[in-house]
Amino acid sequence: MGKSPEEEHPQKTFGWAARDKSGTLAPFHFSRRENGDDDVTVKILYCGVCHSDLHSARNEWGYTFYPLVPGHEIVGVVTKTGNNVKRFKVGDRVGVGVIVDSCKSCECCDQDVENYCPQVTFTYNSLSRDGTKSYGGYSNMIVTHQRFVLCFPDSLPADAGAPLLCAGITVYSPMKYYGLTEPGKHLGVVGLGGLGHIAVKIAKAFGLKVSVISSSPGKESEAINRLGADSFIVSKDPEKMKAAIGTMDFIIDTVSAVHALPPLLSLLKVNGKLIMVGLPDKPFELSIFPLTLGRKLVGGSNIGGMKETQEMLDFCAKHNITADVEVIRMDQINTAMDRLAKSDVKYRFVIDVANSLTE
Ligand SMILES: [Zn+2]
Ligand SMILES: [Zn+2]
Repeated sequence: MGKSPEEEHPQKTFGWAARDKSGTLAPFHFSRRENGDDDVTVKILYCGVCHSDLHSARNEWGYTFYPLVPGHEIVGVVTKTGNNVKRFKVGDRVGVGVIVDSCKSCECCDQDVENYCPQVTFTYNSLSRDGTKSYGGYSNMIVTHQRFVLCFPDSLPADAGAPLLCAGITVYSPMKYYGLTEPGKHLGVVGLGGLGHIAVKIAKAFGLKVSVISSSPGKESEAINRLGADSFIVSKDPEKMKAAIGTMDFIIDTVSAVHALPPLLSLLKVNGKLIMVGLPDKPFELSIFPLTLGRKLVGGSNIGGMKETQEMLDFCAKHNITADVEVIRMDQINTAMDRLAKSDVKYRFVIDVANSLTE
């Protein structure tokens, strides 16, 4: 029989885990590997609650292996560094995002897109290349190879900045890759949740004209007055949708439930791009006619590489971009997950790990 999670490795760790597809989280003792020569050990201060945490805790994508400690929007303080680590020292404020390892030698890794490495190790619910299981940030500490640790800029608050590590890079990376950074271009943002609200802020910082496309009319005032969007289109309002046909250069679609794509494609100009960043659990129907007739493109994107994630953090620090967050205690996580499932949060829960995770 294998060793228990608590005895597997030398560094004792405490967190909250889901044990089955109810997704209910409860205290969990486990362990992390000794800090190796290239490793950084981080005491966790805050951890954002991403929609992926919920999907994974409830096994909605069908590949969760329990026990699961979610959390991949981690901000903390360095407590140990290995001999080969020069970029960080004890006491530095750092971030750990969605990935904690990759092969470091394939084409993707060479091109700084470790996020697409075939051997990438995700921060939780993933097997490392040495066969050990990864556990995320709903815990008091984490050990990570230095390549996957980020300098967390001084001017970013640790709580409201934490969601940038997944939600921020998820919308920043496709803007860079697909060329959505040219001032004056018109971007549609579908869905005003954790990803969407940060997409609006980053796009405005790039100088884009931003329209929010949402099924909730109640979000209009907030989208425009607080987040800085230029216009708001209720997706169920045929008149408003019709008026916007052919007006957008790009659309970022953050919705993680199945929905119709043709109405969105019709909003794009010729050569327009629709970029999907949500992760629905079922396939979409996609008619090819709207693509060929307007030379349009539907693309995808998943988080970003480490170099680009650092660039995104520095960009957000420079432009004072943070997430709008509701800070919770660890023992409020199950209620928070239920509320997240109903999109009842503006716009991200963040767990105050250091002050509320007690054994
Ligand atoms: Zn995430
Ligand atoms: Zn690789």
